[in-house]
Amino acid sequence: MLSYSTQLIEDDDIEAVIETLKSNLLAQGPKVFDFETALCKYTGAKYAVAFNSATSALSGAYHVCGIGQGDEIITSAISFVSTSNMFVDLGAIPVWCDIKLDGNIDENRIEKLITSKTKAIVPIHFAGKPVNIKAIQKIAKKYNLLVIEDAAHALGSTVGSKKIGSFSDMTIFSFHAIKPITTSEGGAVLTNNKDYANKLKLFRSHGIVKKKLWNSDMISMGYNYRLTEVAAALGISQLKKLDRFISKRNEIASYFDERFKNEKLFLTQKIEANSISSRHLYPVILNPELQCPKEEIFIELQQHGLGVQVHYKPIYQNSFYKEKFGEVSLPVTNDFYRSEISIPCNQTMSMEDAKYVADTVLDILRKYSHRGCSF
Ligand SMILES: *Cc1c(COP(=O)(O)O)cnc(C)c1O
Repeated sequence: MLSYSTQLIEDDDIEAVIETLKSNLLAQGPKVFDFETALCKYTGAKYAVAFNSATSALSGAYHVCGIGQGDEIITSAISFVSTSNMFVDLGAIPVWCDIKLDGNIDENRIEKLITSKTKAIVPIHFAGKPVNIKAIQKIAKKYNLLVIEDAAHALGSTVGSKKIGSFSDMTIFSFHAIKPITTSEGGAVLTNNKDYANKLKLFRSHGIVKKKLWNSDMISMGYNYRLTEVAAALGISQLKKLDRFISKRNEIASYFDERFKNEKLFLTQKIEANSISSRHLYPVILNPELQCPKEEIFIELQQHGLGVQVHYKPIYQNSFYKEKFGEVSLPVTNDFYRSEISIPCNQTMSMEDAKYVADTVLDILRKYSHRGCSF
């Protein structure tokens, strides 16, 4: 099965892990710090704080900037649930902003949603395509709001000459198995703010500062959200390959773009000329006439060996959110969910695989077109 996204672990990654397993430090230690330094160097951000997942990293980011009870957070619903879960856990309220057909937050709809309770904007770089960060920063500045980017898909994505990771107050990356690089599970917060970085370090490790000899002091609430040395060793090794992974995925994505460019049955994500996408996902957005048989299309694509997936069910459609915040319905977000399928595009695929994927997608979608859709 060709997967919509997958890891690529090579011999040197395995060696790095084995070597670290033989060392006498297994929990957080020098490898974690080296990984953080490498992340700063790669992204251009001043500080990196590694976590054991992007979910714990998001929790840390929301905590240290003081998000709390009754604060409103403007975000989009086409994301993994943890983007919102971690601020809802602090008593904050999601204010859903509709998206554009590329899956990213619609920056032109943000301003209308701002109230005196708005505390932050949390955009998601869907599939690795950078959001309109300049427009978002401008709004944030005007209303004195924080910007916290969920860049779980977007390590290595760039806008102009700058990598995602140093634009906003804080940026979160994921190193879950199938994200752009992996530590098996892992995440990080990048920031240029020293105070946030210090607080994040306390937050991930019980709020404890070491004093002299056996003496230590717990000065703030904290958890054990530390990354392990073994995971960090894998991360250091993987980060060296990120540009190679991204160019491979872009080679496949460009081939798809070319094959699909005059296609009437679906849209693809257009990447702005001044930016680069990590291409974590390659989403196709079905024409309305194909929305009704989407389930059949999905199954048939899988039967042909295409490990497709749908990203994402709108967060507000989950039972927990419906019960807590009531029914929400945003037209483009709803439509996107009905139309989106992520097709295989990853760094383990050959160009032959890519041709097979493009041929199969076109064959199957053509077969299902003209079936009519009754809404
Ligand atoms: C994967 C993902 C997360 C959560 O990452 P974990 O490392 O699995 O906790 C958060 N947001 C988005 C957009 C993701 O894709």
